[in-house]
Amino acid sequence: MEAGLFLLAAAAAVLAAAWVRERALRRADAERNRRDIDEQRSRREVELKEQSQRTAALFDRMVEGLIVLDAGGRIRLANRAAEVLFAFDGHAAGRTILEATRHHEVAAVVARLDRELEVLGYELRIDSIDAPRFLQMNALALRDTSGASDGAILVFHDLTRLRQLEGVRQEFVANVSHELRTPLSLIKSATETLLDGAKDDPAALTRFLQIIDKHANRLALLIDDLLLLSTLDSGGLRLNRQPLPFRSTVQDAIDDLQTRALARDVTLENKVPPTLVALADDDRMRQVLSNLLDNAIKYGRAGGVASVEGRLLPDGRIEIVVIDDGPGIPKDSQERIFERFYRVDKARSREQGGTGLGLAIVKHVIQAHGGDVRVESGPGAGARFIVNLPAMPGS
Ligand code: ADP
Repeated sequence: MEAGLFLLAAAAAVLAAAWVRERALRRADAERNRRDIDEQRSRREVELKEQSQRTAALFDRMVEGLIVLDAGGRIRLANRAAEVLFAFDGHAAGRTILEATRHHEVAAVVARLDRELEVLGYELRIDSIDAPRFLQMNALALRDTSGASDGAILVFHDLTRLRQLEGVRQEFVANVSHELRTPLSLIKSATETLLDGAKDDPAALTRFLQIIDKHANRLALLIDDLLLLSTLDSGGLRLNRQPLPFRSTVQDAIDDLQTRALARDVTLENKVPPTLVALADDDRMRQVLSNLLDNAIKYGRAGGVASVEGRLLPDGRIEIVVIDDGPGIPKDSQERIFERFYRVDKARSREQGGTGLGLAIVKHVIQAHGGDVRVESGPGAGARFIVNLPAMPGS
């Protein structure tokens, strides 16, 4: 009997121990599972965070402004370009499109998405702090799988630069037409006068033929300059860069202009040292120097001096300076004279046969060489056109 009780007790103890071990094992399992789930969850959270950071970084790198709206019409996301375009003060997230952009047209386009799936190519103007901006807006309604509204995506392209270029192009065409019409109408009226009887008077015949010749030459010059500028604009100009002894290029330009200089009693001086060498296209550089020296003759002092200096700068670049002792260029025109058709004195330029394109060509050609050009001038103190060219490789 006692032995039986003892066995029963022993069996109960074994069972109890097994139960305790089993419970401990289960608890450990549950603990491990919980840890696994926690780990997975935090890994997933990190992944999601990284993914949304990557998406945000991608959106922020977009040139276009991007705004994503939720089903309630509130901003879920706005990228940096959108923030800049609409000058959001503070965070846009959570606000309605009207609150954030303060632009009724934008809000009206968003409202249209209730009825339409998309609104594409909508153009609008916004008045930002510095200047008006022209935008193209594309809006796309989002729908969930059941077809219910799930917000919208708005993309804004900034068309301001394009509009500016279009304005420049229109102005250029208007200028070209005007520049062509002026000599053409002078030629036409000279021929009409000749045909009306002036041809029978030898003195008048010569005078009117000279007028025709002068303005036909002006037209030819203008067309040459326009063609060259168009080649430069299209990047079609091939530069034949060679080590150029600059003194001889300057001398060639001076020789070409000697007759014009004599007509205004201007002395041309070449002060470029024979050792100065630049990597440049000879023909184009001669043209740059011709344009600058021609201006120095035209606008400088009659009976004055126009000279060209050159030096090697400490950083290896080459500096060429065309100097005259004329009346100089007013401060507020100094930046503008490199623009096409800009002239300080229109009548004077035309009378001298100027096309208004000489300095625009100079700037273009020098930039094509990787250099730059600027002017220094004070009232009555003459003008100094300073050209910088990149250093010779290996210098
Ligand atoms: P243009 O055919 O009229 O000479 P440019 O582009 O060569 O055209 O020059 C633009 C304008 O810059 C000129 O009309 C003139 O008013 C001014 N300019 C250029 N060079 C000089 C200079 N050396 N001195 C004074 N004015 C100058």
